Amino acid sequence: MNQSPSSEPNSPNPFLNLNYEPSFESLGNDYYDEVTAAEFPLHILRWRNDALLPLFGLNPRDVSDTDFINAFGKFVGRKPLLAMRYHGYQFGVYNPQLGDGRGFLYGQVRGKDGELYDFGTKGSGRTPYSRGGDGMLTLKGGVREVLAAEMLHRMGVRTSRCLSMVETGLELWRGDEPSPTRSSVMVRMNRSHIRFGTFERLHFLQRPDLIKKLLDHVIDVYYPHLLDVEDSGESKYIQFYRELVQRVAQLVGQWMAAGFCHGVLNTDNMSITGESFDYGPYAFIPNYNPQFTAAYFDEYGRYCYGNQPAICKLNLELLQKPLSAVISTSEMEASLAKFEAVYFQEYRQQLSQKLGFTSTIDSSIPREEINELCQTTIRFLKTYPVSYHDFFADIARGFSEKWQNDANSILADSEIGQSLGASELFVQWSGLYHRLLTRLDRNTIQQIPVHLKKINPQIVITRPVIESIWEPIVIDDNWQPFYDLIQKIQY
Ligand code: AMP
Ligand code: MG
Repeated sequence: MNQSPSSEPNSPNPFLNLNYEPSFESLGNDYYDEVTAAEFPLHILRWRNDALLPLFGLNPRDVSDTDFINAFGKFVGRKPLLAMRYHGYQFGVYNPQLGDGRGFLYGQVRGKDGELYDFGTKGSGRTPYSRGGDGMLTLKGGVREVLAAEMLHRMGVRTSRCLSMVETGLELWRGDEPSPTRSSVMVRMNRSHIRFGTFERLHFLQRPDLIKKLLDHVIDVYYPHLLDVEDSGESKYIQFYRELVQRVAQLVGQWMAAGFCHGVLNTDNMSITGESFDYGPYAFIPNYNPQFTAAYFDEYGRYCYGNQPAICKLNLELLQKPLSAVISTSEMEASLAKFEAVYFQEYRQQLSQKLGFTSTIDSSIPREEINELCQTTIRFLKTYPVSYHDFFADIARGFSEKWQNDANSILADSEIGQSLGASELFVQWSGLYHRLLTRLDRNTIQQIPVHLKKINPQIVITRPVIESIWEPIVIDDNWQPFYDLIQKIQY
């Protein structure tokens, strides 16, 4: 990457000097296999996420492109590399033949925020779990995951990020890309790569002892604030499940407001820390359509946009089977019953934020009125084929204090306002929006545009946008549009 800095040629690699903690490794080899990375004919650094380096005490100026390549393309000097073992329900069918098939856990590092982070690779070679696969990631797959993570992060979703992407010079054959297609290794930074499926595998193997050990580990490392409550007799285990339900419900609320369809919500793609990760055939919806399905192989729309809350709830229910080795099922059922309430609360709050109402403003307006505005917003977006993202981007770009004085001025300068301004639903929506704005004082109104611009990016990576930056890469090896897009996303 030509715009990046470089350090002394022979200085020690800062990535190898990080203090790696053998956290998952300490569980023992019931949970993983040691693996070696593939050797590649070529290493070109295509993406380095300098924004993440300070979290690990690194100054981007002290980390060269060569350091990235040696660590995350050539895998010099880092051992052990672990392929994590897991199973999972794929499209509702239990698959006991999963596990890291093309990536591994590179290492775990504590951030300056005190939290432990995984560096996980994707596309770094075959493992005992590759089955018939080549262990590789396409370059386009790497580009897509980098973009998804940055976009979701920008939109306030709790997500993994990508640390680097190295092009590796192989020709890959894929049914869903013109082939041969180029290869890459991507490194993902995530709170944890322990999945629902990691527990499901241990249930399948009938090892309640290993389930308990893993659960203790997860709580110690990722839910350390949970303690047994002696008086009520409530164990940290049931508190863990309750919090996981809450985190997952909130995550889905964030996805839905962001207009994001993950695409493959199998239980091996659900993280035990309740964050979003593993971006394969995802898509941002073009317009509001609950049936919108991202993965071409999802024939019946199981994981369509509108099914995401129900599917995540089902995945949490399936997780009760392994966890019942430690936690009472009736207590877990009672916790899961709260899923919808938490989800709707988060979704409503996120939508309200997309309309400019920060949580402070939101809490000063009557709940019913915000609910009515959110419902009418969605009814409008569902009825007319307007771009979901343009609608919010237009509000962010066009917001004016005048909107408080005159409902007719709301979005009047935008294409959406001009073409649909006279429709009954738009009039109803702008009337409600106007009414809420009149409740705010001048000072509060002035804060709204800043907030709107932060949460509603002017560009969202719908499929045509991704294709528009991919084409120059294919045709001219021109990466500038990709870097320009990331810059716009990163704000
Ligand atoms: P995913 O759909 O990406 O979550 O992957 C599901 C499973 O298939 C995981 O066990 C992956 O490691 C494995 N897998 C996907 N693609 C490949 C590949 N090209 N080579 C080997 N394993 C793969
Ligand atoms: Mg996966």
